[in-house]
This record gives sequence, C-alpha cells and structure tokens, in this order.
Amino acid sequence: MSAIDFRPRRALHPCTVSAIQDLAPGTRGVTLDVDAGSDFRFREGQYIRIVMPDGRRRDLSIASPDLGDARITLWLRHVGGDFSEYVFGTLGLGERWQFEGPLGDAWVRPHDPRPLLLITGGTGLGPARAIILGMRRSGVRRPIELIHGDANAQSLVPMEEVHAIAEEDPALTPLIALQQPEPHWSGATGTPDEVIADRHDDLSGHCAHLFGPPAMVDAVIPLLRARGVLREDIHADAFTPAALDLDTSAQGR
Ligand SMILES: Cc1cc2nc3c(=O)[nH]c(=O)nc-3n(C[C@H](O)[C@H](O)[C@H](O)COP(=O)(O)OP(=O)(O)OC[C@H]3O[C@@H](n4cnc5c(N)ncnc54)[C@H](O)[C@@H]3O)c2cc1C
Repeated sequence: MSAIDFRPRRALHPCTVSAIQDLAPGTRGVTLDVDAGSDFRFREGQYIRIVMPDGRRRDLSIASPDLGDARITLWLRHVGGDFSEYVFGTLGLGERWQFEGPLGDAWVRPHDPRPLLLITGGTGLGPARAIILGMRRSGVRRPIELIHGDANAQSLVPMEEVHAIAEEDPALTPLIALQQPEPHWSGATGTPDEVIADRHDDLSGHCAHLFGPPAMVDAVIPLLRARGVLREDIHADAFTPAALDLDTSAQGR
C-alpha cells in the first residue's frame, strides 16, 4: 500500500508569456498574463514560484504593481542555471507556464507612516519598483530611500523610471552604488551596506525591505540592527539560487 502524502498543495495559476523584454545585458523582463477566471492578486514586494514542466521550482519576485489585470512582470538575471538558460535561450511568446503564489512577507504594511528603506541588488530592484509604483498608484506618500547596488554600469537594471519619479516626488531618494564602477562613474562606490554605514548613524523608526543577493542581505541586516532598526521592521527576500535551495529540498517539490 502506498503512503498517503499529507503535504498541503498550493493552487497553481496557469498563465501565458505575453511579453519578453531585454532590460540590460543579462537581464530580461518576462510578462505573464494569468488565465481568465483566476483570482490571483498580490501585494507589491511578494514573489511567485514558477513550477517547471519537470516539477522543479524557481522563485521570482514580481517587478510590477498589482493593477488588478492579472498581469505580472518578472525581472530575471542570466545566471547560467537551467531556468535562466531557458529564459535567455528558447523562451518564446505564447508559452504556457504555471506558478504558485503569491508568496513572501516583504510587502509594505499599509497605514504605517514611518520612513522606508528599500535596499536592493541586481534584479532585486524589481520588487522595490513594484512597491514604489504601487504606493504612487494608491496615493500613499512616505519618505523612501532606495539604495541599489550592482556590479557595474553595464549590468545595471533600468533606473530611468525611478529617477523620473524622484524628480517629481521629493519623498523618494534613489541612490546607486556600483562595486566595480567605470572611470566616468559619479555615483556611490561600494556595496549597499557600505553606503548605509557612510550615510546613516541612526535609523531607528525606519522600516526596511531588502531584495537581492544573499550576501547583500546578510551584510545589511546586522548593520540595520546596529543602527536601530527593529527586527520586526526588517523584511528580506534573499535571492537564494534554486540549485542551492529548492532543488535540494525535499519540501520544495
Ligand atoms: C524569494 C526569491 C526571489 C527571487 N527573485 C528573483 C528575481 O526576481 N529575479 C531573479 O533573477 N532571480 C530571483 N531569484 C533567484 C531565482 O529563484 C533562481 O535562482 C534564478 O531564476 C536562476 O535559476 P536557474 O535555474 O537559472 O539557476 P539556479 O539553479 O538557481 O542556480 C544555478 C547556478 O547559478 C548560480 N547562481 C544562481 N544565481 C546566481 C546569482 N545571482 N549570481 C551568481 N550565481 C548565481 C548558482 O550558485 C548555481 O550554481 C529569487 C530567489 C528567491 C529565493
């Protein structure tokens, strides 16, 4: 007699790839239209779990605000694993995907007027973008400092939209830090934790949302704690490679 599997099953949302956009060398935007009749809604800052045809899963943050139109955009980096090889290789418009979600706790709590720190690396700007656009759409105004880190100007995800919003809205302060900047770079140099350490002695009363490489998240959280941010006001999604997490986790299937 076979054992009964009591693990909870999450609903799968079928969807269609409706747009593919090259955002920067090695970074693509993929837009998904969730099938009609789906009740899928999410909070900006959350992620979904793509279920590949062979059952493997890949977590991806939602880079667009919830407009109630069952359409989401993901920002993906080409890291050389199976999923990104497929997305940067044979993926075509009209392909059918399915995903679980929404997942994650890094969404912005409503009715909280405290200043926000959005700290991102690489494609981690995507969910921060979703948060900024979602807040603008719902008319919520809070001071936001966005600190975004990337390797160099070539790998940088598009920042024009964020800069345009900041020009109109002084509540948003974007800051880009490059680790290996080109000679003409006039912005900050270093990693997000170094930039925070330089700029801030006291961050008490702030809420922080972190999205990006695990090393960045690991470096920034203790610094925020040392600068007075409460543990419960720090919400982080580390972009742990699936090969090191979901693929090796029995619960991941
Ligand atoms: C909550 C969460 C949200 C995420 N959101 C995003 C997102 O919005 N955009 C996104 O691109 N990814 C995101 N990721 C990572 C994503 O789930 C996959 O790791 C990514 O899609 C690559 O899948 P893959 O099969 O190509 O490679 P994986 O199987 O994940 O990894 C394959 C190999 O590449 C290496 N690798 C993976 N990622 C990196 C990296 N960033 N830098 C250097 N080497 C790497 C791994 O060590 C491994 O050797 C997120 C992860 C989590 C947990």
